[in-house]
Amino acid sequence: MNTKRIIKAAARFAAPYRVTDGRRFRLKDIDPGDTGPLTSEDKPRAKEALQNGVEALAELQDMLYAQDRWAVLVIFQAMDAAGKDGAIKHVMSGVNPQGCEVYSFKSPSANELDHDYLWRTHLRVPERGRIGIFNRSYYEDVLVVRVHPEFLKSQKLPPGCVTKHIWDDRYKDIRNFEAYLARNGIAICKFFLHVSADEQKRRFLERLERPEKNWKFSPNDARERGFWKDYMRAYEDAIRETASDVAPWYVVPADNKWYTRVIVAAAIIDALASLDLHYPKVDKAKRKELVAAKQVLAREG
Ligand code: ATP
Ligand code: MG
Repeated sequence: MNTKRIIKAAARFAAPYRVTDGRRFRLKDIDPGDTGPLTSEDKPRAKEALQNGVEALAELQDMLYAQDRWAVLVIFQAMDAAGKDGAIKHVMSGVNPQGCEVYSFKSPSANELDHDYLWRTHLRVPERGRIGIFNRSYYEDVLVVRVHPEFLKSQKLPPGCVTKHIWDDRYKDIRNFEAYLARNGIAICKFFLHVSADEQKRRFLERLERPEKNWKFSPNDARERGFWKDYMRAYEDAIRETASDVAPWYVVPADNKWYTRVIVAAAIIDALASLDLHYPKVDKAKRKELVAAKQVLAREG
């Protein structure tokens, strides 16, 4: 399949899951088990489509890097075991590592807590020509911190800064921050991988039963299941409040990994394809240099 056709197909696959205006967004409208027009019989075809997508992505990234104007920030948020790591691994498997950085944001360190909450992520915003992937992000500060407000205490905010409007204030901070990035040539693409509680349980059990997956299990992940409803509310609010044209959310069904990865790849392809990417144009002076260099090489015999 040629790249143009892949780009067209990608736009079609990604569109149903894109949220750019949060006002009408309801999490319950997205079924975690949805596989769009595909059934499990299409799994081999989906894998092939993903492979084609990965190749198209590599081509687009090559141009992004050569052009050195835009940067692309891709954010992944999800409950544990929703498949963030696998999606990043598979979707980015074809891109040139020189043009891509992945950063995972964990519980903030003492140093990070000495700064405003956007600080640590702003430091990691990708440079021009690069794709930056945030595995978790500043959204944790309106998700886990909202579900467990005791984390706010460790953020050492002056008392006057912790008001009952704090979450609305943070949504506003985030909207402004993302608009600021967009105005500076950073394209943003945000994913919420929407897994069901049942499927998460199944994946946790698999992590417990299979020795090679034991390392992925943390008792804390299981404890967080107890706050499922609170998390879903926090996710729904965050998406409603921060979806925009310049920083769309993709709410991706995540009970079937093969489908999740196709949609994630499609959305990133769509984001890159909507930038005016092209290889740098060679001007007259540069062309002269190239011709001269060619002659020198030819003379070497
Ligand atoms: P992941 O859970 O993303 O797959 P991991 O298991 O390797 O990765 P953890 O050590 O569990 O990494 O770190 C992620 C944890 O850090 C999550 O539970 C997340 O909610 C928490 N976290 C991230 N940012 C913050 C924050 N700003 N405040 C409090 N907790 C945070
Ligand atoms: Mg974890």
